[in-house]
Amino acid sequence: MKITQHQSESILNLVQLDQTVYQLQSQIQAIIGGADVAELRVQYSALAAEFLTARNQFESNQTELERAEADLATVEQRISKDKDRLNSSSSAKDIQGIESELATLAKRKSELEDAELALLENQDDLQGQLDEIGIRHRGASDALTAAESAAEAKLLELRAELDRIANDRLQLHAGIGTELAAIYDRRAAKGVAAGRLIGGQCGACRMQLGAVDLDHLHAAAADDLVYCPECQAVLVRQ
Ligand SMILES: [Zn+2]
Repeated sequence: MKITQHQSESILNLVQLDQTVYQLQSQIQAIIGGADVAELRVQYSALAAEFLTARNQFESNQTELERAEADLATVEQRISKDKDRLNSSSSAKDIQGIESELATLAKRKSELEDAELALLENQDDLQGQLDEIGIRHRGASDALTAAESAAEAKLLELRAELDRIANDRLQLHAGIGTELAAIYDRRAAKGVAAGRLIGGQCGACRMQLGAVDLDHLHAAAADDLVYCPECQAVLVRQ
C-alpha cells in the first residue's frame, strides 16, 4: 500500500492527539475520583458531628442552669415569705416551725448556689469549646466548598479541551482515507499506532532496529507503507 507525505504527517498527528485524549481522560477520572475532595469531605463530616455534640452539651448545660436559677428564685421567695411570717408571728410553736423550715431552705439555697456556680463555670468552658469547634467547622466547610468549586471548574475546562481535541481528531481521522484509517485503528487499539523512524529507532516502541530490518525499510519505495518489525506500528521514514 502507498502512503502520501500528507497522510504520514496526519497519522503522526493522530498519535499525538490520541495521547492527549488519553491524558485528558485520566485527569478527568482523577478529579471525578476526587481523593482530595473526599478527604476534605471526611474532615468536614467529622467536625460537623463534633460541632453538633458540643452544641448539644452547651444547650443541655444551659437548660440545667436555667432550671437551677428558677429553683433558686423559688427558694428565695419562700425564705422571704417565711421571714415575713416570722416577723408577724407570736406563737412559739409557729416560730419554731418557721425557723426549722428556714434552716432547711437555707441549706437548699446553698446547694442550689453551688450547683449554679458549677453550671456557670461549665457554661464558660462549653462556650469556649463550641466557639473553637465552630471556627474549625467553618474552616472545613470553606475548604470543602473551595475544593469542590475548583474541581468543578477544572472538570469543565478539561471536558471543553477534550471536546476540542476529539473534534480535531475526528477531522484528521476522516482525512486519511478509510483504508489507512482502518490500519491505524487496529494498531491504536493495541498500543501506539505509528511512529517516526529516527536514527534507526522506532518512534512508537522506541526499539533500535537491526541493520537487516533497516536495509529492508530503506529498500522500500519512499511512498510504500512500512511497519516497524518490532511493534507493527506504521513507520514514517521522512
Ligand atoms: Zn516499533
